[in-house]
Amino acid sequence: MENVVILGSTGSIGIQGLSVIEEQKNFAPFALVGGSNVDLLIEQAKKALPKWAIIYDDTKLDILKAGLNGLAVKVASGETAIHEVIANEESHIILGAISGFAGLKFIMTAIQAKKKIALANKETLVAGGDYILDLIRKNKILLTPVDSEHSAIFQCLQGQQNALNKILLTASGGPFRDCSDEFLKAVTPEMALQHPNWSMGNKITIDSATLANKGLEVIEAHYLFNCSYDKIDVVIHRESIVHSMIELTDTSVLGQMGYPSMKGPILYGLSYPERLPVPWPSLDLAKIGSLHFSKPKSSFRVLPLAFEAGKEGAMAPIIYNGANEVAVDLFLKKKISFLGIANLIEDALENVERIKIDSYESIIYADECTREYALNKVGE
Ligand code: NDP
Ligand code: MG
Repeated sequence: MENVVILGSTGSIGIQGLSVIEEQKNFAPFALVGGSNVDLLIEQAKKALPKWAIIYDDTKLDILKAGLNGLAVKVASGETAIHEVIANEESHIILGAISGFAGLKFIMTAIQAKKKIALANKETLVAGGDYILDLIRKNKILLTPVDSEHSAIFQCLQGQQNALNKILLTASGGPFRDCSDEFLKAVTPEMALQHPNWSMGNKITIDSATLANKGLEVIEAHYLFNCSYDKIDVVIHRESIVHSMIELTDTSVLGQMGYPSMKGPILYGLSYPERLPVPWPSLDLAKIGSLHFSKPKSSFRVLPLAFEAGKEGAMAPIIYNGANEVAVDLFLKKKISFLGIANLIEDALENVERIKIDSYESIIYADECTREYALNKVGE
């Protein structure tokens, strides 16, 4: 039995992760960690009966206590409690499903505590970059990707690690893939929050609409699979059935397919190297009928900016990620336009002063400098 800590259990990945664990005999929910949605955390804990239910937001602790009173679930709040439960000797696998840079500090603890990590929180890899990968290698951590594209690549690479020629990263293209540049000028948060294929948290849904999500994934793929940027191609695939592909040295292409659900990638991230039986239906390709592939449109400037930031390396991916997080937040608050997201990232990449990235503290400082620059730029 493997004890799982779900960081971000109240989010889109966390909810699906809990459902996967409940469907499988091999895993037990050891700790559920929410941000501030205490009502959902109480509901989850009442049903799943984990050993721990922890809320990041300290002001919600009393509600959590009252909600779980009389049950054999320990409760706590705040950052220290989260670090402690990750490092707890009874916890075996950490499902990293917090959104954004905020997840990095907890993944650092998981690495130091030598836990197996199933990672959805891509911003951690983008910002942590070579520094975090070195730590993962030094500590001999098993890190499995949960992001569906990276899970697909990881699955295809089994036994093929030395024959990789190219990564073909698929992208749905988001809700505006067929829209004119003129249309993009008037996109509102309400419009951008409607994703055609996937139901996800707000931040990643906006990232999917701008293609920043694909940009982050390009950098994530570079770090995870040690693949140079000129060997990563993005392919628009509107059905989101082929989750990504690899080309081998003899030009054979291997892909991994499934319905657009995160439960498969989450399960493989937890169970790797094992394959487990599941209660969900098989893929019915005849019913789907046809699959389409095309090139991304050049109007989605956030994607080429990721290649630029990635190739520069060091602090540039931190700037790309930090500026994007600020920009998405400002867009959701209607303080900048949809196209303003790309402008802000580009501006930050051009102007934020570079520092040497050689420690955890330098990553945190680089992120802070980026956020300060981006907020100042829009007068916030
Ligand atoms: P959500 O916004 O739905 O969920 C985020 C979770 O993190 C919530 O449980 C939230 O708590 C919690 N949280 C936020 N900040 C903190 C904090 N400081 N401390 C503790 N918990 C916190 O995001 P998603 O589930 O969509 O995405 C999670 C990660 O997975 C992202 O990095 C995303 O890029 C990645 N991912 C997501 C996919 C998807 O299909 N959703 C697909 C592939 C990758 P609360 O809500 O209680 O405040
Ligand atoms: Mg993805």
